[in-house]
Amino acid sequence: MGGRTTLLYSEKFLNYSLGPFHPLRPVRVKLTYDLIQSKGLLNEDTVVVTVPRVASEEEILLFHEKEHVRLVQTYSERGSGLLDGGDTPAFKGCFEATSLIVGASLGACDKIMAGKFAHAFNPSGGLHHAHPERASGFCIFNDPAVSVNYLRKKYNVKRLVYLDIDAHHGDGVMYGFYNDPSVLDIDFHENGKFLFPGTGFPDEIGGTEAKGLKLNIPLPPGTGDEAYLKAFHKLVPDTVRKFRPEIILVQCGADGHADDRLAHLRLTTNTYREVVSEMHSLAHELCDGRFLLFGGGGYTLANVPRVWTVAFATLAGKKLDNGIPEPWSRRFGELTGEDPPNNLHDNPTRDDSKTIGEVDNVLEELASYLTD
Ligand SMILES: [Zn+2]
Ligand SMILES: [Zn+2]
Repeated sequence: MGGRTTLLYSEKFLNYSLGPFHPLRPVRVKLTYDLIQSKGLLNEDTVVVTVPRVASEEEILLFHEKEHVRLVQTYSERGSGLLDGGDTPAFKGCFEATSLIVGASLGACDKIMAGKFAHAFNPSGGLHHAHPERASGFCIFNDPAVSVNYLRKKYNVKRLVYLDIDAHHGDGVMYGFYNDPSVLDIDFHENGKFLFPGTGFPDEIGGTEAKGLKLNIPLPPGTGDEAYLKAFHKLVPDTVRKFRPEIILVQCGADGHADDRLAHLRLTTNTYREVVSEMHSLAHELCDGRFLLFGGGGYTLANVPRVWTVAFATLAGKKLDNGIPEPWSRRFGELTGEDPPNNLHDNPTRDDSKTIGEVDNVLEELASYLTD
């Protein structure tokens, strides 16, 4: 399966910096780009880099309220202030930096809808916590949510799938379209009893107009590849086929990976490869390959570039060997002061019967709400 693939990238993505001691490190996006390049993926004719554009205010207003946009503009000029309870500090130029991230996702939508590329990846995107009226959880503007409304308004898309595999619940997108029957939203995340934002339980299946189209799968801490993929394969392909989307959007937060600094799942590159591979097949089967992949969370620098390089290669239909190129490892050390990873791919993590049983129970609970 081919189809041309584009990677949205600009060094300006690094301007989205919430401060030197903040856990969200923008250098992870640069390291991802560099690893993708080092592994030779950008030498392929079918893989092209697209320089992103900045989203207009009018476009941001497709999802966000004017007061929120004004506040971001004011704090951005001032270069200080908190945009939420404390996790998301403003910085000089934050309006421009986050408008570029939104613009990258909208540019990706344009390329896909124009048929120029089948697949696109915006590693700086996936800022899924921002709500229409406020920033939240390191996210100033919600680029997946703006993309959903942009696709509907500009391209008259009637049916979209949004899958979110970040370790945190994608609350901004989920509640932003909770009553909306045009969006099938499936969200796998660490159980909100243990992790921010504390939402996303199986009984939340969508408002009246959209009952059964919002699916939340809260996972126990420690969930590994085995239990995760079992649940994913059981639930996702059939549900997506039944919905018949015109485009597939996936938020691919890398913080579900084992040893993430903020979350407690135990996934490896294998889960990311398999999820993206399945969604890629579904995109070709159901919607001419139209598939937009976003980044998201991811706080352990030795993991994020590997996870996203594997995801991007899978999106482009390429297989990569296990090597980490030496020049990249050296640059990794220089930029982070940390030890580089030894291998691109991980060994899969097996689950004990307790975790598998718990995840099975979550699917059963979800099924009980869906049949009510
Ligand atoms: Zn393809
Ligand atoms: Zn996250």
